[in-house]
Amino acid sequence: MSNFTFSRSEARVREAATIVPGGVNSNFRLGVAPTPLVFERGEGPYLHDIDGNRLIDYYLALGPMILGHSPADVIAAAHGQLDKGLLYGGQSELEYEAAHRVSAMVPCAERVRFAGSGSEAVQLALRLARAVTERLTVIKFEGHYHGWLDSVLWSNGTPFDQVGPEESPTKYRASAGQDPATGENLEVLSWNQEEQIVSRIAKGDVAAVIMEATMCNSGGIFAKPGYLEAVRDACTKHGTILIFDEVITGFRVGPGGAQKRLGVTPDLATFAKAMANGFTVAAVAGRAEIMDQLSSGHIMHGGTYNAQPVAMAAAIATMDRLVQSETFEAMERNGTRLMNGIAEAFAEAGLPATVTGYPQIFTVALGLTEPAENYRGLAKVDRAAYRHFTAALLGNGVRALERGAWFLCTEHTEDVVDETLAAVRKTLADIGPD
Ligand code: PMP
Repeated sequence: MSNFTFSRSEARVREAATIVPGGVNSNFRLGVAPTPLVFERGEGPYLHDIDGNRLIDYYLALGPMILGHSPADVIAAAHGQLDKGLLYGGQSELEYEAAHRVSAMVPCAERVRFAGSGSEAVQLALRLARAVTERLTVIKFEGHYHGWLDSVLWSNGTPFDQVGPEESPTKYRASAGQDPATGENLEVLSWNQEEQIVSRIAKGDVAAVIMEATMCNSGGIFAKPGYLEAVRDACTKHGTILIFDEVITGFRVGPGGAQKRLGVTPDLATFAKAMANGFTVAAVAGRAEIMDQLSSGHIMHGGTYNAQPVAMAAAIATMDRLVQSETFEAMERNGTRLMNGIAEAFAEAGLPATVTGYPQIFTVALGLTEPAENYRGLAKVDRAAYRHFTAALLGNGVRALERGAWFLCTEHTEDVVDETLAAVRKTLADIGPD
């Protein structure tokens, strides 16, 4: 049935587990079916693994590789900086240039600070919000992922049958070893419930509301019409800082991220991933009057590797491509073709599934007949069957995430999309109905 085999990867990961726990360096890489893979190189839309397979890649490292693997212009920019020094412990013109580019692209970005990872950017945004408002309470939503740090790793990634009724969203830690005290000033609400959030903000004691403006981690779920605007208004009215976590959507769903595409501007936003096409760059961007509070030094923000010059050169080259109109036009076209083709293939196979999100990041939810409105709406997704599908799809040369997300890059051309759709159809025929 399968044209590709992964025995070398399987053996290497197993052997490596004697030195690297689980054989992987992020929990998101654990337990992948049929095995976590070991790669040799990436090129355009393809990854080459140590079994000699060339796989069409829709993981894209969980988002960063918006221009595909090893794009010549980004690599050349990074090469150009390599001989000039790796870290200065001081400033370079590159970080100022990069900040200007972010500001030109992203509506909320009057000021920009670079950071080391998405998780760190979230930490900075929350610290800023608490410092500036002199309030402690932060609100997040069920199923929204904001990084793996103790303070925000709450109420995601747990079986749905453990959560209470929607009117009283459940706050639970998502990892063993997480300090419960870090959640003391965190409240968890159900997303897309306007009345719930607006009435909570109206109490006047909320420092910040943080959300993925479109839920991309749990499923491709859009805000209901008017929801983001209502949250925006309530925050403005009651002095609460609205934070959009654009670590996935930023520089991916359009040059200005979700905030530009959806037309709602937050006070602060966090970025990482697609901003530098694989180089470690993250950022907080936001309103001047908030961000400028960092100037006096009383709000701490550190990071040895922040604005690393090679990464900054790569970020500039990436953003220079993303502002060219044809970059996104092509991704819209090819991504839409892929979304429609996958939806048709599942329908033809007699399998209920929704395909929702943006052409550049969408989710296939097997088992749903209607798009979910929030985290709980995903409870009916048949995760085991979809995992079986992605494992079989890998055997047909296409690598897609088990949890349903598909990331698109500029190198997923019409031909690559057609090849992918043929693999999807073959896979569905191979595995047949349950
Ligand atoms: N926020 C969101 C919305 C994310 O998707 C992620 C990463 N998946 C993070 C924060 C954390 O970013 P990082 O993995 O770079 O720490």
